Order: sequence, then C-alpha cells, then structure tokens
Amino acid sequence: MTRKLGDTKLVIATHNAGKLREISALLAPFGVDCVSAGDLGLPEPEETGTTFVENALLKAHAAAKAAGLPALADDSGLSVTALGGRPGVYTADWAERQWFEGEPGKDYKGRDWYMAMGKVEGLLSQQGPDVDRSCWFTSVLAIAWPEGDEAIYEGRVTGTFSWPPRGTMGFGYDPVFVPEGRDVSFAELTVAEKQTISHRADAFAKLVADQFPDQSTA
Ligand code: IMP
Repeated sequence: MTRKLGDTKLVIATHNAGKLREISALLAPFGVDCVSAGDLGLPEPEETGTTFVENALLKAHAAAKAAGLPALADDSGLSVTALGGRPGVYTADWAERQWFEGEPGKDYKGRDWYMAMGKVEGLLSQQGPDVDRSCWFTSVLAIAWPEGDEAIYEGRVTGTFSWPPRGTMGFGYDPVFVPEGRDVSFAELTVAEKQTISHRADAFAKLVADQFPDQSTA
C-alpha cells in the first residue's frame, strides 16, 4: 500500500507556471495545503532520466529532501507515432534555444515553443502528406516523502498533431494538440475544459483514487 499524504503541506515541485496552474486547480477540491517549489526558492534539478517515471521521481525526491515536506512532481511530454515516440521525454529540450541580441552578456537561453512545434511539423511533413499524425501526451505524477517513500501515477491522452497551431490558452504544445473526439486544440479549451480530458487529469484521477479514496469518483 502506498503512503498517504495526510494533513501536511505539499510542495508542488514544478517551475512551469502552466503545470502549476493546472495541478493547483486539480488539488483545490481536496483541501491540500500547497506551496510551490518556486515560492520556497528550491533549485530546479537537472532532468537526467531517460523515462518520464525517472524524471518525475528525480524532481519529487529533490524537492521533498530540500523542503523536508512531501512533494508532488509531474514529468510529461508529447509522443508522436510517426516519429517513433519522439520528442517524448525530451519534449521540453526540443524548445531550448539561445537568443543573441548582439551584445555580450545580453545573450540568453530560453524555450521557444513555436520553434519546437515547428520542428515536429517539419519532421512530419518530410514524410509526405499522408503521414500518420496521431500522437499522445503522457503525464507521470510522482509523490516523494523526505524519508524516501514514493508513489507514481501515470496518465495519457491521445490525439492528432494539427498544423498550424490554434488557440491562445494553455501552454507548451497545447496549440497543436487536438484530442481524440474533439475538433479544437488544447489551447482553445479553458483550464476547466482541458481538465476533463487531459493526461494530467487522467494521472490525477489515479492519484485521487489512491490518496483520497473517500473523495474519488473513479
Ligand atoms: P517536463 O515535464 O518539465 O520535462 O516538460 C514537459 C514539456 O512537455 C512541457 O514543458 C510542455 O512543453 C510539454 N507538455 C507537457 N504537458 C503539456 C500540456 O498539458 N500541454 C502542452 N504541453 C505540455
């Protein structure tokens, strides 16, 4: 049996504002007292794992140890069938870009989501107009306790990689992901609508069934 959260404060071990917004909204009905890794000034660990599970555990354990509190981390990404599951665990890395402003000290690194989505589109269109555009988002939620206990919950949503990007809500690759059975992208849905179908919500339903069984509808 997995360890339960109880009444202690929970650290949300993410520096991604979009994920923080979604996880906080998912946790809100359960009255969990949350604090974010950013608010605690915790460093962002390097994601050296080669699977979603490894990276989620790595982030949750680092935050739990640093804060002395249980911590919840999400590792997620987009896998494209015709690209053999890429970018997968490297979804965020595909957006890494260096900007040059011409003056030393002004160059900076950041994430360019439009470039990353364009890279996927470029690789798909190289395969011709009939390429299989099916893809899926995975979310692995890991809870770690300072004493070393851990729990893992995995969720998924399938859909189509659609070009050009559509919509202004959400984050990351939301504008190119059209979930199965819908004709709008994740970025055209409100947070509340996305929460009814997303990979993160799927993983979260499993977390709730395990951690808060009295309040679960699963
Ligand atoms: P990581 O989990 O921090 O390695 O980053 C995963 C990356 O996958 C995010 O930075 C997003 O670009 C992308 N991603 C994960 N979940 C979503 C989502 O719900 N919508 C759009 N992009 C997502």
